[in-house]
Amino acid sequence: MPRRAQTPLIAGLSLILVLGIMTVAQTQAGYDLIIRNGRIVDGTGNPWYRGEIAVTGDTIAKIARTVEGTAARVIDAGGLTVSPGFIDPHTHARRGIFEVPTAENYVRQGVTTIMEGPDGGSPVPLKPFLEKVAAARISPNWGMFVGQGSVREQVMGNVDRKATPAEIERMKELVRQGMRDGAFGLSTGLFYVPGSFTPTEEVIELARTAGEMGGIHISHMRDEASKIVESTLETIRIGEEGRLPTQVTHHKIIGTANWGRSAETLRLVDEARARGVDATIDQYPYTASSTSIQAALMPRWAQEGARPQVLSRLKDPDTRAKIKAECVSLIRNERGGGDPRNIVIARCGWDGSLAGKNLSDITRVRGMEPTLENAAEAALWLVEQGGCSGIFHAISEDDLVRILRHPATMIGSDGEVPVFGQANPHPRSYGTFARVLGVYVREKRVIALEEAVRKMTSATAQRIGLPDRGVLRAGMKADIAIFDAAKIRDTATFERPHSYAEGVSHVIVNGQLVFEGGKMTAARPGRVLYGPAHR
Ligand SMILES: [Zn+2]
Repeated sequence: MPRRAQTPLIAGLSLILVLGIMTVAQTQAGYDLIIRNGRIVDGTGNPWYRGEIAVTGDTIAKIARTVEGTAARVIDAGGLTVSPGFIDPHTHARRGIFEVPTAENYVRQGVTTIMEGPDGGSPVPLKPFLEKVAAARISPNWGMFVGQGSVREQVMGNVDRKATPAEIERMKELVRQGMRDGAFGLSTGLFYVPGSFTPTEEVIELARTAGEMGGIHISHMRDEASKIVESTLETIRIGEEGRLPTQVTHHKIIGTANWGRSAETLRLVDEARARGVDATIDQYPYTASSTSIQAALMPRWAQEGARPQVLSRLKDPDTRAKIKAECVSLIRNERGGGDPRNIVIARCGWDGSLAGKNLSDITRVRGMEPTLENAAEAALWLVEQGGCSGIFHAISEDDLVRILRHPATMIGSDGEVPVFGQANPHPRSYGTFARVLGVYVREKRVIALEEAVRKMTSATAQRIGLPDRGVLRAGMKADIAIFDAAKIRDTATFERPHSYAEGVSHVIVNGQLVFEGGKMTAARPGRVLYGPAHR
C-alpha cells in the first residue's frame, strides 16, 4: 500500500522537476541559433568588431561581445565575416525563379533579398503574380516595383504618342493599384519601348502618384551613351518635380566616345543632393551590359507596335536601309563599342547553338565579311528570326570604379535566376556581390570591406524602405551572410558564366539556414516583402 500511495506523488514531483528543468533550459538556451567569434560588419559602414549574434525565430535576439547561453544550433564563425544578407535592388529574377526557387546563384553570394519589376517592366496587376511567388516557396525574400512601361502598354499599347489626360488618369490608377498590391515604387525603362515614347512630364505625373504613397522612382535611363548627361538630369528632375526619391539604376557609360563622363553625371547627382533632391545610384561591377539585340541595336521608332509591324518595317527595303544605318551607328558608337566582336549572344530561343558566339562570327557564318554594315545586317537577321539577348562590351573600367567609389552608389546585379548550364548569360547573375568583395575590395582596394557591405545592405534597405533589414542589430530580421573576406570571389566569367561564387560559408534568411557546407539546405524561408502602401 505505502508504495502504491507514493507512486502518484513521485510522478507528480518528477513532472514538476522535468518542467523545472525545461524552464531553466529555455531561459538559458532560448535561442535557436548563435553565431560565435565572428567579425561583425554590421551594414552601417562602421569598422568591424568582434561579437556574437543570437537568433530567435526570424529575428536577431541579441548581439554582444559574448552571448551567454546555448542554442539549438551554434555556428563558429572564427576567422569569418558576419554581415547582413545582401539586398539586390535590381533583378530580373522572374526569369528563372519558378524553375529554380532557391535562386541559388544569388544565395551563394550571400544575397537574401531580391527586388524585381525593374526597367519599367512588371506584371500588371502585381497581386496575382506576388501570390504565385509566395506559393513557390523561394529561398530569398522578394519585393517588387510597378513598371511604368508595362502600365503604359496596358493603357495605350506600344505607341509613340503623348497620353491623353484620361489615359494618364487610368495609368495613375494602375500605379496606385500596384502600390496597394505591395510595390516599393515605380520603375521606369525610358530606354525601352514603350517607355521611350513617354514625355518626361508624363513620367513625373506617375512618379508623383507613387511618391504620394511612399514609393521611390528607379530608372533605367533614356540614354546611357551620348545623352548620358541629359538622361541623368531627367532622372533627377523626375525625383525633384515628382517629389520622391529617385535612383539611377545600373549606372554606366556606354560607348568609347562617352567614356569618362561619369565625372559629370556624379557631379550632377552631388549637386542635386546638395539642393535636397534624394537622388541615388546602383551599379554592377562589370564592363559589359546585357539586353536584347533588338533594344540595343535598333532605333526606337522601328520598334513601335507589335512584332508583325516591326517585321514589316524590316521587309520594306527603304525602311530597312534606314534602320540598318542607325544600327551601324549603334554598333560603332554605342553598345557595340566600335567592333561586332564586342557583341556576344547570351541566348536565342530559336537556336541554342548561337549562345556564346559573337556578332562577327555570326556575320562570317552568314557568308559576309564582318564589317560594321554586314554586322548590322546580321543583327537585323537575328531580330527577324525571333530575337536574341546579347552581352555588350562597351563600358570602361575607369567609369566603373569612379561610380563605385561614390557614396550614393549601392550594388545591384541586374541579373536573373539562370537554370544552371543553360544558355550563355551575363556572369553578373552569379558573381556581382562576390566580385565587388573579391576584386574591388580585396584585390584593387577601391573601397573598404565595410563600405562595400554598406552598399549591399543598409544603403539598399534604407533606399527601398525595408526598416527591419540591412543592419545587424537586435530586433532586426535575421537575414545574415557569413563569408571569408580573404577568399570570397566570383568565378563566373563571360566565357564560363555558369559558375557559383566561392567563399560564402553560411546564409541565413528569416532566421533559417538556407546555405551551408557548400550546399543549399531544404529550408525555403523567403517571403514576399510588401511596400509602404500595401493593403
Ligand atoms: Zn536595365
